[in-house]
Amino acid sequence: MSTLERFRDDAYTGERRCWPCTVVNVGIVGLVVAAAIVLDYPVVAGVVGVVGLGAIWARGYVVPYTPRFAPQLVAALPIGSDPFHADGGAQVPDEDGTLADEEMDGETVLTRLVEAGVVVPEGEDLVLADDFYDRWHARMDAHREASAEELAGRIRDLVPGASVSVEDGARGPYVVVSQSGTASLSDAWLTRPVAIAEVAAVEALDGTGLDEGTRLAAAEPLRTFLDVCPDCGGAVEVTTTVECCGGSAGATDPDEVLACTECDTRLFTFPN
Ligand SMILES: [Zn+2]
Repeated sequence: MSTLERFRDDAYTGERRCWPCTVVNVGIVGLVVAAAIVLDYPVVAGVVGVVGLGAIWARGYVVPYTPRFAPQLVAALPIGSDPFHADGGAQVPDEDGTLADEEMDGETVLTRLVEAGVVVPEGEDLVLADDFYDRWHARMDAHREASAEELAGRIRDLVPGASVSVEDGARGPYVVVSQSGTASLSDAWLTRPVAIAEVAAVEALDGTGLDEGTRLAAAEPLRTFLDVCPDCGGAVEVTTTVECCGGSAGATDPDEVLACTECDTRLFTFPN
């Protein structure tokens, strides 16, 4: 590993670059450089400028603790919420969407899954039964290449009565399962990976003896058992919504989530 690589910090650079942090830091470096020039320290100005901008490029920020305060600082400015991420996509609700229309109590769903032999106790834990694991993963593989439109079509078959559309969000297409007819923020917005996981889960639960309502309600909790990304096949890990300095600007209490380490998609949000 080169010195530069060791110095680089992926957490705040590249796709994860924290734009509030970058802007605030460039501003601060600029002020210091300007002050050094005014005080007639041209060498200091040059060194601060080069080192400061280099650090912002390589690490995302140079002023200590920037990721803790810059997003809040920018969020407090009267320029709307997080201008750095508004890139034209539809406004998307922060909650995970799921196929089930009405929420069924999680305990009830889990009990029924255990009774149906879909989930089995293993010591203190619950794990997926081997045959269900295989069926679910086979269905996810089958849908991996499906477009959002194709997934929407499949959801129309599985969720009677719902109107299903595809909307473009800033981070990609969403399959919107709506009870009202037109997509609104109160509807379920499913990312492609979540749509693949849930469609495959409902399909794999067919033939287990569970009724339709339970099969749909089980799709969301089953996502906690994902061990690979339904979309790209990448490894998944439990992490927090620190996609950029703590998720959306101003977030001080990030959610704990299950996310893909490859495509950086949230696959499940654990209740706080
Ligand atoms: Zn992925």
